[in-house]
Amino acid sequence: MIGRVYLDNAATTPVDPVVAEAMRPWLEGGSGNPSSLHAPGRLAREAVEHARRQVAALLNADPGELVFTGSGTEADNLALIGISESFAPREFHLVTSGIEHPAVLSTCDYLIRRGAEVTYLPVEANGIVSPASLQAALRPMTRLVSVMAANNVTGAVQPVAELARVAHEHGALFHTDAVQAVGKLPLDVRIQSIDLLSLSAHKLYGPQGVGVLYLREGVELEPLVHGGGQEGGLRSGTENVAGLVGLGKAAALALASLAEENARLVRMGERILTDLASSIPHAYLIGDRYRRLPGHLCVGFQGQEGEAIKLLLVLDELGISVSTGSACSAHHSGEPSSVLLAMGFDPVRARGSLRITLGRFNTDADVDRLLKALPEAVESLRPITTHSPVT
Ligand code: PLP
Repeated sequence: MIGRVYLDNAATTPVDPVVAEAMRPWLEGGSGNPSSLHAPGRLAREAVEHARRQVAALLNADPGELVFTGSGTEADNLALIGISESFAPREFHLVTSGIEHPAVLSTCDYLIRRGAEVTYLPVEANGIVSPASLQAALRPMTRLVSVMAANNVTGAVQPVAELARVAHEHGALFHTDAVQAVGKLPLDVRIQSIDLLSLSAHKLYGPQGVGVLYLREGVELEPLVHGGGQEGGLRSGTENVAGLVGLGKAAALALASLAEENARLVRMGERILTDLASSIPHAYLIGDRYRRLPGHLCVGFQGQEGEAIKLLLVLDELGISVSTGSACSAHHSGEPSSVLLAMGFDPVRARGSLRITLGRFNTDADVDRLLKALPEAVESLRPITTHSPVT
């Protein structure tokens, strides 16, 4: 990606060179099977357990409370399906929100087909779920509440600790999909009272295809993948040693730089917003102004909402990578974003957002290039046609 300005860190982050270096010996030299008893096997086991301690430190979890998976999606599936299987389908009511990632929403569809009941909490116009709406949705059979820690489209940060408290007062478990939040927000499973949490290495400068489910000690779960009994029997399959070494290193780097890096990303994000306010007056920020992931901007262009994909492609031609809505919906690029619909946008406006997400390797020079290119790109679009009120 030489010469390219990559501003799509919410879709995936580049692997940190320090992470790649840590993984290299496990890729080049190969790795023993962590279940083998000989020296290479024991070495691989120690590497996996070291990674487990590094990830646990980032979450303030106990290393024994982590289950390594093949992705954030798998961790979400394991949480929701794994908990639901402890109950008869008709005795399982799950509360989630309308702005979850498809990894949660499609799993809910599956659970509904199996006879479970699911309630989708609404969000405020700023993209945030209110604890009061959760309180109102609880039923006697509510066993699990799953609300994401931060949204992948708007970056809106959810009140996880309050939601967990409401769930617990009712006797339900609380799961959070923290794939977008881990490494960007300080998370503490003890202080925030989280029972289950999903994360993914490729959103924190680690490799793709590596995920984790945190499972508070004592929480019972049925596995989805059966086999040799790895990961305490909760996720069979030979461990991805190189990938886990990378995840562990990524977690350690995130922990060491969180506060400083956040301040840098907030500063760069604010610079973009301030500049856009004068260079593109009809641009508006979607989602909460302050309760937002650092460096995460979801922007609409009033009257030009139908042109978001064209805008993305114009910027792409200019060597700048951003996304519309979310990478996962790129396959459905003509469809409105379900997150923006849940926030009350009409279908036309829900199709038209640009997501700019800054990350560790972005510099002020990248911001300069965006701020020069974006007004020209917007100018090149079809003229503004309608002026609907900002929500
Ligand atoms: N949850 C959220 C909020 C995400 O943003 C993503 C990825 O974009 C996922 C889950 C899925 O994670 P993975 O790509 O590791 O399957």
